[in-house]
Parts: sequence; structure tokens; C-alpha cells
Amino acid sequence: MYKVFYFNPLRECCYVVWNESRQCVIIDPGALSQREQERFAEYIGQEGFEVKAILLTHGHFDHIFGLKDAAQRWPVPVYMHSKDRPVFEGAEAFSHMLGLPYEAYEGPIDDIMACGDALPDGLKFEVIETPGHTQGCVCLYLPQDGLLFCGDTIFRGSVGRTDHLGGDFDQMIESIKREILTLPPATRLLPGHGHDTTLEEELESNPFLT
Ligand SMILES: [Zn+2]
Ligand SMILES: [Zn+2]
Repeated sequence: MYKVFYFNPLRECCYVVWNESRQCVIIDPGALSQREQERFAEYIGQEGFEVKAILLTHGHFDHIFGLKDAAQRWPVPVYMHSKDRPVFEGAEAFSHMLGLPYEAYEGPIDDIMACGDALPDGLKFEVIETPGHTQGCVCLYLPQDGLLFCGDTIFRGSVGRTDHLGGDFDQMIESIKREILTLPPATRLLPGHGHDTTLEEELESNPFLT
């Protein structure tokens, strides 16, 4: 089970995913304003969720605006791919370039490729490496639920930008073909921006996949 929040001026999708015991993980905590951060914390509190981990699909600024705040409220492990460290480190400069405030998280970050064992039942994501949008971006797959949290790699009707640091369009399309198009067609794609979709719908209508 999951819920999506649209946060910050880039309308980034932050997801809360939980299991039957109401343990949850937070994917891409992008809440920027204090109001967004408080609304998010209220939701977690009201639902009685026990936060177990914070997972980052990649290190772009719009996906981590709320990381410092979230890690203070819920001191749990933070996971990201080590190859996205340069992108993560560049987030502050990028935010300021766009005139957005940024509070850097300076705590530890664990390797997301090894997060599986540490996560509770029902939330043991398969971490799929899909380099291209960034070099360390990943998709988080829950095969039993048919859910793929795909970050900025593929969107409804589109694919990720590759004009930022570490971006490589051909590599991204290769990753999508190799790692995403080979999943069951009914897989629900939960992207980092915009609406959810299914792999089936994208195979029919996404102009970048034909
Ligand atoms: Zn991104
Ligand atoms: Zn994004």
C-alpha cells in the first residue's frame, strides 16, 4: 500500500509505502516548505506509521529537499546508490541557482544496493540499477505488489531528462529496455513526477519506447 505526495515547486512525487504492520518507508522526501514538511509529518503520525527507512531513487535536489527534516523527525537509515553522491553533493548549488532554499542533510547514507535485508517484510524492495538519468539512479520494485517506484527514469508518456550532471540519454533508454520493459506488463509505474501509469500503457503509447 502506498500514498503519493506532490511536493515543492517541481511537484516531485514523494511516496509512503507501508506493510500490514503499518511499518513504512519514505521514498524521495521532497517536502520543501515548512508547511509541506509539517503536513507530511502529521500524516505519518495520524496513520500511526512506524518509519523504518528513507530510500532515495537518486540524489537530485527536488527529491531530497525534505531529507534533513525527515531524518531529524525519524532517525532511520537513509539509502542511496553510491554513484549518485556527486549529484547529491551538487544539490545545494543547483537549488540556489533556481532560487530555492536548501538545507543539506549531512548524516550517513547507506548503500541502497544492500538495503533489502534491513527492510521489514512486505517492504523488501528489489533495487534495480537504471543508470542514465543519473549514474546512480535506481528503481525500487515490489514484485508481490506489482509496483515499481521508478524515480525520474520513466514517466507517463515520457522519459527522464539527461541534460544534467551524469545524464546519458542512450544509457537511460538501454536501462529502460533492459530492466523495465522486461517486467510484467501489468506492473504499475510510480514515477518521480506526474501521474502513475502501467507498463502496458507505456508500451502502447510512450513515444520514447517505440
Ligand atoms: Zn531527477
Ligand atoms: Zn525529479
